[in-house]
Amino acid sequence: MRRKFFKIILGSIFGVFLAPYSIVYAVSKKIINKNLTDEQKEILFNEGTEKPFTSSLLHEKRKGFYHCANCGNKLFSSEAKFDSGTGWPSFSEALPGAFKTKVDFSFGMMRTEYHCAKCGAHHGHVFNDGPTKTKKRFCNNGLCLIFKPSS
Ligand SMILES: [Zn+2]
Repeated sequence: MRRKFFKIILGSIFGVFLAPYSIVYAVSKKIINKNLTDEQKEILFNEGTEKPFTSSLLHEKRKGFYHCANCGNKLFSSEAKFDSGTGWPSFSEALPGAFKTKVDFSFGMMRTEYHCAKCGAHHGHVFNDGPTKTKKRFCNNGLCLIFKPSS
């Protein structure tokens, strides 16, 4: 209990110090896909999160690649996808150079948030509790992804 309280305080202190950097970061994001829905924009540019178990990509099992819904950048291979049971599409690794990460202190937790390296749009958080040898679990909002099956 005390530990949790300490973590929240620490998160808030760092959050205040890092706020100016977050603002600088936000400026570098740009809308490329003019057909994005309001829900997609909320996640991609306002760090929102979709409701779990709502993504049509959760049960996508075909071979192919997952691209950024905003700029089309190729982010994940279907080979890295796994069912984490969390309700969000999950991947054990991203394609090299697909993302840039940022430490996020919101909700009193320290989490690593990742953004598309090409357009700066927010996609999700990456955790170190994945079930494969990479130990990574990229927890991605399905609305930020476009799946293109390999033909
Ligand atoms: Zn992008």
